[in-house]
Amino acid sequence: MALIVQKYGGTSVGSPERIIEVAKRVIRWRERGNDVVVVVSAMSGETNRLVGLINALNPQGPAREKDVVLSTGEQVTIGLLSLALDSLGCPAKSYTGQQARVITDSAFSKARIRQIDDTKMREDLAEGKVVVVAGFQGVDAGGNITTLGRGGSDTTAVALAVALKADECQIYTDVDGVYTTDPRMVPSARHIPMLALEEMLEMASQGSKVLQIRAVEFAYKYNMPIRVLSSFDEGDDGKSTLVTREEDIMEEVLVRGVAFNKDESQLTIKGVPDKPGVAYEILGPISDANIEVDMILQNVGTDGTTDFTFTIHRNDYAEAMKILQATGERLGAAECRGDDKIAKVSIVGGGMRSHAGVASGMFKALSKEGINIRMISTSEIKISVVVDEKYLELAVRTLHDTFQLTEKGA
Ligand code: ASP
Ligand code: MG
Repeated sequence: MALIVQKYGGTSVGSPERIIEVAKRVIRWRERGNDVVVVVSAMSGETNRLVGLINALNPQGPAREKDVVLSTGEQVTIGLLSLALDSLGCPAKSYTGQQARVITDSAFSKARIRQIDDTKMREDLAEGKVVVVAGFQGVDAGGNITTLGRGGSDTTAVALAVALKADECQIYTDVDGVYTTDPRMVPSARHIPMLALEEMLEMASQGSKVLQIRAVEFAYKYNMPIRVLSSFDEGDDGKSTLVTREEDIMEEVLVRGVAFNKDESQLTIKGVPDKPGVAYEILGPISDANIEVDMILQNVGTDGTTDFTFTIHRNDYAEAMKILQATGERLGAAECRGDDKIAKVSIVGGGMRSHAGVASGMFKALSKEGINIRMISTSEIKISVVVDEKYLELAVRTLHDTFQLTEKGA
């Protein structure tokens, strides 16, 4: 008998009709001899609605109370799904994060899971029940309700799968898997049946939105395979993407996919002294303001001065610029400038590890289209470039063609 953890996202439980469909699907998996633990998100739009209520009342208020509000969406869906299962004759029991003993740290709104005590859930499974757990929430050591960050139900599912030593963690969503790039931008994008956890990690951190990045980090760390499927497929044998261990990958490819991120901005400080400690003086205040820096570039110094550039999320642009200008005055920099209309495009693939020439192929393709590259960064299995936002779509299409990711015949 296998143990399966399934997660259903907001659109999959978006209405009573959809919830009944989920219940029927859970029952089919169970009738095939599996134990099933289900993790659900809030109904689609619900968490945004709760954020709106919070912002209408007290946007700067205590984070603890915000999490009390935000966590309610999932409490509704665990109850509703358990009622739906019961109405179809299937015994089920709902668990809030607290009841499931999902213990987190106390970082409200972005808590990390520390430990899960699965004793009670196991007892219910042994009695033949389906266990239905609220995603996105936990409880800290002091008994306070916490939430895991937007999209956090994926992380709950992976963490439960790890704790329960599940055979598979299935993430049901509104798409049938991971594609070579976003099909809304490139209609000829191809479905990927299987890829490595590490490739998915790069894709997610470079902008692919299919899985929450923390969930992929968790799965990568514990080597837990994830299968992405669509809850809108009628049967149970439709397309899916298995994100799995390196050694289980059948086909190694040079480039698995093209990911992109529109919401980037770039800041440059020019003419700062070229001496030890300057990078820290520039980025220290940025990180103290809790602004996450992505790419960093420092020019080779000339005449004892140098230029320093970094990228951050566009939402943080105004605040970061203010901080940088203050730093500039302190350091006697020549000027600070920035651009919040940039985008990042990345190619990702495990095969890059053992093949040279991928980067030059990428740069050649972009230059043929007259696209200027502003910044470059690489890892073992990824190359990212920053380009003007207006070239984003062209860059994605060109790279998708160049590395032959397009559906055959499309
Ligand atoms: N309901 C939460 C959100 O909308 C968590 C999730 O859906 O995974 O972010
Ligand atoms: Mg979601």
